[in-house]
Amino acid sequence: MKPFAYARPGSVAEAVRDVAAEPAAVFLAGGTNLVDHLKLGVARPDLVVDVRTLTSREISDLPDGGLRLGAASTNSEVAADRRVRERYPVLAEALLAGATGQLRNTATTGGNPLQRTRCVYFQDVTTACNKRDPGSGCSAVGGYTRHHAVLGVPAALPDPTAPETCTATHPSDMAVALAALDAQVQVLGPAGERTIPFADLHRLPGDDPSRDTVLEHGELITALDLPPLPAGARSAYRKVRDRASYAFALVSVAAVVTADGPGSSTVRIALGGVAHKPWRATRAEQVLRGGPLTEDAVRAAMAAELAAAQPQPGIDGGNGFKIPLLTRTVVATLRELVEATR
Ligand code: SF4
Repeated sequence: MKPFAYARPGSVAEAVRDVAAEPAAVFLAGGTNLVDHLKLGVARPDLVVDVRTLTSREISDLPDGGLRLGAASTNSEVAADRRVRERYPVLAEALLAGATGQLRNTATTGGNPLQRTRCVYFQDVTTACNKRDPGSGCSAVGGYTRHHAVLGVPAALPDPTAPETCTATHPSDMAVALAALDAQVQVLGPAGERTIPFADLHRLPGDDPSRDTVLEHGELITALDLPPLPAGARSAYRKVRDRASYAFALVSVAAVVTADGPGSSTVRIALGGVAHKPWRATRAEQVLRGGPLTEDAVRAAMAAELAAAQPQPGIDGGNGFKIPLLTRTVVATLRELVEATR
């Protein structure tokens, strides 16, 4: 492991100043992903600034009926909170579908959405990877792609030598639920405070796959705000994976359904395990808006959403199976929610 300096400042503002002043500095919260990367040589900071005891660990009611999750609240604490379980079951279910009890006891609200891809090449410093080592190429093209993206990737087979190529997926279950809940991200940075809609926090690879989010260097998540859901809304999270626990999603679905009247619903759908970012299925939502959530309607909506999907071939058989699996998982999730709203 590369040696680094460790700092535990006295305030959030001081921590932000410390990281902003050192280009090779990083924040440390629960450390469940960063510490792995320090050991693997994936992360090689000169300075690690510990904010674990600086940001709030509180889960508090907001005046509009929503909830504020302090950045230092743990995944276990949020999943167990009565208000979360009653008002945002999709979030509690997503958290409990992620990792293990030990990891959830340590991982934080602020850190979970910032965890990095589990692409095997990203974590293996002997291989080419544009995300870890910009411009080096992408070893996943023609390699292992079972866990890789089918949405938000180029129509043509990606060029493994192009510096912008990356077909990695975002690994967080929590982030998929937060996308469906229209969460708001509270951030403190060198330029002050700002609020980022959760849907805008993560980015597609674009011309710089090394950047997972729109956060600038030195910006720290201080809280996540959950807006209130409409009266009568029902929500759920469904995750499909290779084994029953401690595995990342092949596909996952976070959905919120509100009955507007007889045969008419508003639905929000976010998809996990299929793109570089938590994927809000806005095309499917538009197709379904105001209509009945029959199986045929949901299948038609998903056909519209997945029209631009690009399965990736690979030495493991590729990931084309995700296309029908996504549709089936959305159908099952919405059927469960429709039955719950009756
Ligand atoms: Fe790296 Fe992305 Fe390619 Fe994986 S898919 S090897 S993370 S550039």
